[in-house]
Amino acid sequence: MSEREKIDILTERVLSRFKGREIDPKEVSKRLKLLIHEFKVPEEEAVRTVTNYLLKELDVSREEIVTESPIKSISEINRAGEWVSVKAKVMQLWDTDSPNLSQVGLAGDPTGIIKFVIWAKSRKPEVKEGKSYLFKNVVTDSFRGRMQINVNRNSDIIELDEDIGLPPREMELIGALVAIQQNSGFIQRCKLCNRVLKKGVCAVHGKVDGYDDLRIKGVIDDGVSYYEVILNQENIEKLTGIGIEEARRIASEKLDREFVLEELRKKLLGYYFRISGSKGSRYFLVREIEFLSPNVVEDADKILSETEKLMEEI
Ligand SMILES: [Zn+2]
Repeated sequence: MSEREKIDILTERVLSRFKGREIDPKEVSKRLKLLIHEFKVPEEEAVRTVTNYLLKELDVSREEIVTESPIKSISEINRAGEWVSVKAKVMQLWDTDSPNLSQVGLAGDPTGIIKFVIWAKSRKPEVKEGKSYLFKNVVTDSFRGRMQINVNRNSDIIELDEDIGLPPREMELIGALVAIQQNSGFIQRCKLCNRVLKKGVCAVHGKVDGYDDLRIKGVIDDGVSYYEVILNQENIEKLTGIGIEEARRIASEKLDREFVLEELRKKLLGYYFRISGSKGSRYFLVREIEFLSPNVVEDADKILSETEKLMEEI
C-alpha cells in the first residue's frame, strides 16, 4: 500500500465518524499526513488526534459521532478510549449496588475474557449468563490496569444465535488412564506435514520418509467424566523412562515397533495420574503429568489380598 493510499484510508475512517457534517477531506488528510510523516505519530493516535480536533471545531460530543465500530477479538483490546464491537459470551454477572450501573460481569471469546459494564443510562435489555452477544459500539476502558468494555447509550447489545467459544481453561485433573487409542506408541510422522504415517503412508503426501516419535492418545477417567489426552515424547519419557533411543532399541530387538506400545501399556494403563493442562474443545492438552502414586494398582492389590487374609482369619 502506498503512503498516499494509507492516508486516504485513514481519512475515510475519520470522516466516517462525522457523517452528515460538512468537513473538507483535504483538511483531514493534511493533518493526518503532518502528524504521521512530520511528527512520526503512530497511525491510530493520529486518527484519534484529528478526530478530537474535529469534535472541538464542530462543537459536538463524542457520543454524537459514533457509527459502526470494527469488530475486535478480546485479545486485540489493549487500549482505552476506542470504539469497538465485540462478539462474546456472558460468563458471569456480578452483584452491583450502584444505581448508575445496570449490569457488570465477565464476557469471553476464544482469545480472552474481559469485564463489561452496562451503564443504567444506556437503557439496554438485560444480558443473561451463558448467552452470546454482539456488543456493538462499546468503548474500551482501563480500570486498575485491566481492560474493560463500557456499554453506553450509543451501544447496542444484540443476542447471537451462534455460541461463542471461550478460551481453553487451565485445570488440574486426577484420574486413571483407562484406555489407549490407535496410533499410539512408537510412531512415525511425515517429514513434510508431521501427520502420523500408517504403514509408511501419509494421508496427504502418500509414501514418504518418516521420522520417529512417541505419543500416547489416551482416555483419562476422573470418576465424573472422560477426557481425551495426548502425551508427547517428553511426557512419556518422564513417566516410563522410555525415550526415543530406548524405543528404537526395543523395536530393533523384537523386530517390531508394536512391542514399544506393549511396554508403555504395561507401565501406564490402569494407573492414576495428576495432570495439569488446559481443556480444549476435544483434547485435554497436557502440560505436566505425574503418577499419583507409582504403585497404586499394586497397592490396591496388596490391600485387597491383606483384606482377604484378614477375612479368612476372622
Ligand atoms: Zn504428510
